[in-house]
Amino acid sequence: MRVDKFAHTILIKERKRAEVNRPHLGDLDWNELEAVIKGLGQPSFRAKQVFQWVQQKGVTQWDEMTNVPKSLKEALAQHYTLAGMTVIKRDESKLDETVKYLLELRDGETIETVLMAYEQQLGRERRTVCVSTQVGCRLGCAFCATGKSGFKRNLEVNEILGQVLAVNKDLSKWSSASVTNLVFMGMGEPLLNYDNLVKSLVILNHPDGLNISMRRISVSTSGIVPGIYRLAQEEMPLVLAISLHAPNNELRNRLMPINRRYPLEELLEACHYWAERTNRRITFEYILLDRVNDNLKQAQELVDLLRGLLANVNLIPFNSVADAGFSQPSRNRVMAFRRYLEEHGVAAVIREEKGSDIAAACGQLRRQEMRGKGD
Ligand code: SAH
Ligand code: SF4
Repeated sequence: MRVDKFAHTILIKERKRAEVNRPHLGDLDWNELEAVIKGLGQPSFRAKQVFQWVQQKGVTQWDEMTNVPKSLKEALAQHYTLAGMTVIKRDESKLDETVKYLLELRDGETIETVLMAYEQQLGRERRTVCVSTQVGCRLGCAFCATGKSGFKRNLEVNEILGQVLAVNKDLSKWSSASVTNLVFMGMGEPLLNYDNLVKSLVILNHPDGLNISMRRISVSTSGIVPGIYRLAQEEMPLVLAISLHAPNNELRNRLMPINRRYPLEELLEACHYWAERTNRRITFEYILLDRVNDNLKQAQELVDLLRGLLANVNLIPFNSVADAGFSQPSRNRVMAFRRYLEEHGVAAVIREEKGSDIAAACGQLRRQEMRGKGD
């Protein structure tokens, strides 16, 4: 009797493990899901229903799909899992409406995702999610906490989408609003997880998914040149953001090792291609590091570098990262740098800091060591 009970427990555990190891249904785009459903002999309106449950409502249990026949759910469950990621920690900023989520993935890895609320005129609110694309990052920029936490792996499509769905679920507990904007500025380098990034964008944009307009999506890259050329050809009217941070190769090589592979000349050429091909303005991110890249001679180099390009500069006063060895410039230096750009015809804004008290600001996201999973 005892042995039977033991065997039964093992069987249940194994079934659970097998289920968790199956591919995730959320990895399928519309066409792939429709093909699977048709292959099971079902009409295509079922594909629409299932797609909406998975990609719009973010269900994690089969029985939540209330209008889908049990037989179809059972057939799908033999090949796919819905097991999502779990929110294991939620920190709310006391300074602003920023919320940081620590999410545990199916293999026990953890990532961070941030929700930022911005007030807009006419009472309309913007709710922006800062999305991660990799567990850690292998590019090791000198000022970035993510780079310091090592690289583990790329995120799967369902894990990229799952972040937005998890935030929407959380939001629905206290607000009628849902996520309106996305910035791919969380952990990792989006263009080094190219295929999963693009597939996720297509699904996020789908009318039966979250239906988020490409114009409300920004993708930030440290300057992966081949990825910029590829993305320019996808016909996606999204906002490209380039993490520039230095106006010459010598300094950029020191701050961002990726610059040795793709130096500024090649990066700028790719940016010109982007602008011509998409007719869209590029956002350049420039962290201001006290007395490293914030003097007016460097502002002038930056103006020269961006000449002839449809560009915006986002100035980001450095957010503190332990052991990085940098500090934030004084307000005066920040304002002077900005003024120089503006006076020389380069549109520049100072990016408001969000969630710094919960280490949710740009560059402060990292894999969690607290669970003993650090490299
Ligand atoms: N890997 C991509 C996407 C991450 S975006 C990229 O680098 O573009 C994260 C943004 O925050 C980038 O612009 C990055 O350069 C910036 N950042 C990193 N560390 C920072 C810090 N300590 N303070 C302010 N911004 C930082
Ligand atoms: Fe990676 Fe971007 Fe951080 Fe550089 S700034 S280490 S590319 S996440």
